[in-house]
Amino acid sequence: MSFDSLGLSAPLLKAVAEEGYDTPSPIQAQAIPAVLDGRDVMAAAQTGTGKTAGFTLPILQRLSEAQRPNGRPVRALILTPTRELAAQVGESVETYGKHLPLTSAVVFGGVKINPQIAKLKSGVDILVATPGRLLDLHQQKAVSFEALEVLVLDEADRMLDMGFIHDIRRILKVLPAKRQNLLFSATFSQDIRNLAKSIVNDPVEVSVTPRNTAAATVTQWVHPVDKSRKPALLSHLIQTHQWQQVLVFTRTKHGANRLTKYLEGQGIEAAAIHGNKSQNARTKALADFKNGDVRALVATDIAARGLDIDQLPQVVNFELPNVPEDYVHRIGRTGRAGASGQAVSLVSLDEKKELAGIERLISQRLESQTVSGFEPTPGGGPKVDENEGRPPRPPRRQGGGRNGSGPQRSGGNRSDGGQRSGNRSDSGQRRASDNRGNDNRGNDNRGNEIRGNDNRSGENRGNESTAPRRRRSRGGRGRGSGNGGAASGNR
Ligand code: AMP
Repeated sequence: MSFDSLGLSAPLLKAVAEEGYDTPSPIQAQAIPAVLDGRDVMAAAQTGTGKTAGFTLPILQRLSEAQRPNGRPVRALILTPTRELAAQVGESVETYGKHLPLTSAVVFGGVKINPQIAKLKSGVDILVATPGRLLDLHQQKAVSFEALEVLVLDEADRMLDMGFIHDIRRILKVLPAKRQNLLFSATFSQDIRNLAKSIVNDPVEVSVTPRNTAAATVTQWVHPVDKSRKPALLSHLIQTHQWQQVLVFTRTKHGANRLTKYLEGQGIEAAAIHGNKSQNARTKALADFKNGDVRALVATDIAARGLDIDQLPQVVNFELPNVPEDYVHRIGRTGRAGASGQAVSLVSLDEKKELAGIERLISQRLESQTVSGFEPTPGGGPKVDENEGRPPRPPRRQGGGRNGSGPQRSGGNRSDGGQRSGNRSDSGQRRASDNRGNDNRGNDNRGNEIRGNDNRSGENRGNESTAPRRRRSRGGRGRGSGNGGAASGNR
């Protein structure tokens, strides 16, 4: 199938050709005709499937064909859970729409609102926004939705996970009832289906990946190991396999910092990316990782969400995520657009339950391989003080107010500015598949350690990266602005 056959107009075909795309991805082949037909769409598609072009191209076409309303109001609204995704989607709108006379802007929290207000005043056809800042702008009467034609909810599952349901409902209330709705989600839980019921109308359902599965091109396996030996094992794996570009996931920001320091001490260039880092630091870490100056990028789940790094060969779960769906998101960073990739999980005895949850979700048993010299000990090895080196926390506020207790929303929404990498077909990257098997993989201790006795130690498993999950945003001020908003006009 070619893009021509999808009914796209010449300016869009030209932009697509300039991007070097010759064949529509499966999600594009299914979604583009449905959106062009004016239908509502509910699509199950992970990042990396080409979903952004799947909704952006037909929206651009429909808007360019219809008469532009007076006063230049917003005609299409794309809601995303994170800044980085907003920035990436905004870039795609720019890229695919570059031969059309349509305008776009991206708004998210954490930066000044006034330039955004000015940009909106000048007239914007397509607005990409995170929910919090959008509500702020609406409250300040900087944006009107009177003429809205299309609403896109991108990564709806993550929106719910990050507690944006109330913000979304508030936004829905101020949109015109008659509009086209497109809902994209990596997974379709019951919560998403419930939300969808109140948004989409007789939708065309599109699914390009079986529910909750990783791309088939990603090879996955598990290394059982004592918790205390994980840093040494990771360093060993990077060195032995000569991994040149590894995205490593930790559960906590502190854990990411600590591991980064350790790797650097081992002579492996590493950088951490998480919500406590400044925007500049995150942007720099990502740029260095993309251009090869940093070999290991250590990230928390939320910080890594939506990162678009072409041809990332290697993902390592230094710790398994608490929420099984995050495993699918994590390993979705590799094996994108049909490329092959590898996802390795370092799993200690206390992660038995998480592993079982993941295997249930993906309906697949992960191959387990013990690395010689890193065999797990029956009791799980020495305890690890996960707070070691952590700066002392500020005293909690008395009085139990909701701002004074509980975890702060972590930087889900913050990002690195969402840069895209150019096409890296990285010479130096040696895919570990080349090396698989040449190191210590012989002994399969599967089952004995990880799935054996549940020896959860009750350690402090500080869980900053998933802390915001399920937290309810009550809307209004002090929403932790996390997401609320920063950002930039796009043109
Ligand atoms: P997305 O799932 O929208 O984040 O897209 C993932 C990546 O695939 C992006 O880097 C796109 O530029 C790229 N992409 C999107 N559509 C195509 C296509 N039809 N052919 C090749 N690459 C594509």
